[in-house]
Amino acid sequence: MRPARALIDLDALRHNYRLAQRLGGGRALAVVKADAYGHGAVRCAAALQDDADGFAVAFLEEALALREAGIRAPILLLEGFLAADELPLLAEHALWTVVHAPWQVEALARANPAQPLDVWLKLDSGMHRVGIDAGDYAATWQRLRAMPQVGRLVKMTHFARADEPGQNRTREQLDAFDAATAGLPGETSLCNSPALLGWPEARGDWARAGLMLYGVSPFAGDPATRPAHPPLRPVMTLESRVIAVRDLPAGEPVGYGGIFVSERPTRVGVVAMGYADGYPQFAATGTPVAVDGRPGRLIGRVSMDMLTVDLSDHAGAGVGSRVELWGSEVAAGDVVAHSHTSAYRLLCGVKRVPLQYRDTALRG
Ligand SMILES: *Cc1c(COP(=O)(O)O)cnc(C)c1O
Repeated sequence: MRPARALIDLDALRHNYRLAQRLGGGRALAVVKADAYGHGAVRCAAALQDDADGFAVAFLEEALALREAGIRAPILLLEGFLAADELPLLAEHALWTVVHAPWQVEALARANPAQPLDVWLKLDSGMHRVGIDAGDYAATWQRLRAMPQVGRLVKMTHFARADEPGQNRTREQLDAFDAATAGLPGETSLCNSPALLGWPEARGDWARAGLMLYGVSPFAGDPATRPAHPPLRPVMTLESRVIAVRDLPAGEPVGYGGIFVSERPTRVGVVAMGYADGYPQFAATGTPVAVDGRPGRLIGRVSMDMLTVDLSDHAGAGVGSRVELWGSEVAAGDVVAHSHTSAYRLLCGVKRVPLQYRDTALRG
């Protein structure tokens, strides 16, 4: 059997969820869209079910998959419904929906759901992707509040640059939210992971935590300039093993394109992991790995099914040695820093490797 796999630590997931809840100071939706950022939405939601105040996914099909798997907690659709004919299913499965556009308000006004739908009315406070314009927000809120089709009405917005410490835009978005929602009663929801971890002045009744649940920091760049926050526990460990070794003299190219040339006699370890598994194709030579628990480095270009590491300083390492690509020994954020990618895409990109779960709560 190919040794590549992703180990998913569900205890760490619960730890990070409770941290999100605590930092937010209220309730928190666990964001499990995109198959829980590559970690398996059904297993992650099941592991969080006893703790989580609710879940969030991007769209209806993702929510229905959770309901079919027996997840009974509230689920919010972050993109809302994409067509009016989805509304009966929302009511049937007790799904909460974002409303971000005038046509959705009209669709609700014409609908006759079996029970009132919980609506999260999204303000465009400056991200300019989706959301109701600030000037229309209060009137839209009043209109929805008067509809028998609408149950709970939550005021919501989303930050564009909360992962940039000190960026003034987040403060401006906060001010825009406060101004547009002034005098409107009810609960609020503002924070994604970077806001929870880096912007204590931004709080609401419901946090929406995604990336941080999976134990990866949303902040890039120099660690000294990143916001201080309690440690996250990495959830995914991506690992494989060395399947071949070759000893090269100095001056020999390794792999496609010959982009790495050995500077000295080099022991090359070939690892069963490639970009088809989600490892970044353009991770640079020097990207950290761990070989049998010791720090090492990637060399040469990552290929589809294999990558190469430098074993020259790893006495005793050889075929069968365990290589961690990221997890508790290699921070996913350090791989990101070498790879022209983001932490989000790194995790969402994992595929083909089997996911194996660890959950001490299920033992005994
Ligand atoms: C994906 C998403 C989140 C979660 O963001 P993270 O940065 O992963 O915590 C929160 N809110 C909305 C609207 C989203 O689309």
